[in-house]
Amino acid sequence: MRILVMSDIHANYTALEAVLKDAGAVDETWCLGDLVGYGPDPNEVVEKVREIPNLTCLLGNHDAAVIGRMPLETFNGDARRALIHHEKILTADNMDYMRSLSSDVKVIGEATLAHGSPRDPLWEYVLTALSAQLNFGQFTTPWCLVGHSHVQLMFAMNEKNERITVDQTKVDRPIHLRPRLILNPGSVGQPRDRDPRAAYAIYDTEEKTWTPRRAFYNIAETQKRIREAGLPEKLALRIGEGW
Ligand code: ZN
Repeated sequence: MRILVMSDIHANYTALEAVLKDAGAVDETWCLGDLVGYGPDPNEVVEKVREIPNLTCLLGNHDAAVIGRMPLETFNGDARRALIHHEKILTADNMDYMRSLSSDVKVIGEATLAHGSPRDPLWEYVLTALSAQLNFGQFTTPWCLVGHSHVQLMFAMNEKNERITVDQTKVDRPIHLRPRLILNPGSVGQPRDRDPRAAYAIYDTEEKTWTPRRAFYNIAETQKRIREAGLPEKLALRIGEGW
């Protein structure tokens, strides 16, 4: 099976469209959460995601906040301002859809899926060897897929000596999957690894490969809508540079 794995779309419809097109035909799509937050298009993104066939979608921390499962005060100023805006404009139908999602860790075949980490799905960032080490004990499948940090990367644990290595994965270079790994497809709508292109990955369950990918999209279009919506200027600037 060829599976599109994506995360952290963050209400950036132009980036989402580019990823769906760039990925081509897939058998399934796995979304690791954060449909909303930061960007200008929460309704358009939720509606598009809802239409995707054979979809598995987790609830992210921004999604949880907008449906009232988490206090908005836990977010910084810019993130909070965007969430308040989204709360106002999201349709009842789209809110109901997000309420139907769960942030619980999910196991599908050889993969464990979590928004942040298997240890703390809504909050923990797996960005260092230490945080990865603490999480390798929290799942039993050969690999675990996480989002939340907006950085396309991979942690590998050597099962003999339990050493952890961190790799910023290379675009279009397939990784041959072997136990045990924590993989992050990066963020569709707000990459933070200095590459502003929309990030995602293709997981091939037969070939056992993971291919990190990037899709060009019209960033200026999204920036224009961020400004038109009156969202913080910083949110427009950062998607232009990928931080
Ligand atoms: Zn996010």
